[in-house]
Amino acid sequence: MADDRPPSGLRSLLRDDLRGESPYGAPQLAVRAALNTNENSYPVPPEVVADMLAELGETLPGLNRYPDREFTDLRSALAAYLSRGGEPIDPVQVWAGNGSNEVLLHLLQAFGGPGRRAIGFTPSYSMHAIIATTTGTAWTHGRRSTEPGRLFTLAAADVAEQLGALDPHLVFICSPNNPTGTAVGLDVIEAAYEAAPRAVVVVDEAYAEFARPGTPNALTLLAGRERLVVTRTLSKAFALAGGRLGYLAADPELVDLLRLVRMPYHLSAPSQAVARAALRHTDMMLSTVGVVKAQRDRLVAELTALGFAPVPSDANFVLFGGLADAARTWQALLDAGVLVRDVGIPHYLRVTAGTPEETTAFLDALAALGPEHHLGTEKAS
Ligand SMILES: *Cc1c(COP(=O)(O)O)cnc(C)c1O
Repeated sequence: MADDRPPSGLRSLLRDDLRGESPYGAPQLAVRAALNTNENSYPVPPEVVADMLAELGETLPGLNRYPDREFTDLRSALAAYLSRGGEPIDPVQVWAGNGSNEVLLHLLQAFGGPGRRAIGFTPSYSMHAIIATTTGTAWTHGRRSTEPGRLFTLAAADVAEQLGALDPHLVFICSPNNPTGTAVGLDVIEAAYEAAPRAVVVVDEAYAEFARPGTPNALTLLAGRERLVVTRTLSKAFALAGGRLGYLAADPELVDLLRLVRMPYHLSAPSQAVARAALRHTDMMLSTVGVVKAQRDRLVAELTALGFAPVPSDANFVLFGGLADAARTWQALLDAGVLVRDVGIPHYLRVTAGTPEETTAFLDALAALGPEHHLGTEKAS
């Protein structure tokens, strides 16, 4: 190595505000049931793979040129998909990136930064805080309800009070919320928008397609709210996490401003081609959502029967409490070939709803654990 400085010396070169931070790091292990990152367990159907290959075949000879910087066809396809919900969304209202994480980065680069404040309501998606920090945006952990019957929920008045005190530049509301699973009412989003009059209000709806019937989504609130943003992704219900395609819907002017911060040609031609092919088969790509939702509901019912405390869920995962020691149970499940997520909430773990077989593997592994894993009974054993 030409550089003979010790590695610890490099640490001293790191930006002050990044020192001591840990990277996002959900384990990627080869196990029987990988239920820790809320992916769709079902592979892309062969018909869709064939169409992706055909689309790639047409795209690859043209890789000598930069891709369509404005991803025009993909935008139209995403707008058409969103419009299926009933609220017409125009292609100029749509923006996309390499996963919704990149879309979130663009929002923070454009509207956050040094001297600016962002807030989310903890526990929620950890990447909101991490991306805020990497852009130099000050992050505030907002609070959720701790009342037993309303645990982890958000009430409009409580949100308004917290936002009024902070006067943030960005507000993140995750609905359905990761890792707790519950969707918020539209009244919460309306209250947040009113209480933070200069903030861009971002509603992260990565799990919208899994919501229980009658759950409203924030697309219906976009009209007349120029600071409101709804982010979505093809990573979850669409079963395309490896394709890295996330997107948002917002006011056309806000979308236009994001072009100031994106890297030129940020969406590669193959990425655009694969996503276009997936969207041409929307119904087939979403055909597993029903099975996954059924497994989600099964998890809630059977976790309750096993004596644990699952949180109601509108997503493809369930957060459940009642564990004596979450880290110990996490390891015991992994030893049985089932990988779930320890999200850092004492006595809770999060499990993704997978195939019926994976769900059975998880429930069997959990049921086989001794009473020492149950909160309150651990001392009796
Ligand atoms: C999984 C997830 C995403 C998706 O991120 P991508 O970059 O699109 O894969 C976004 N938000 C939340 C809350 C998530 O849980």
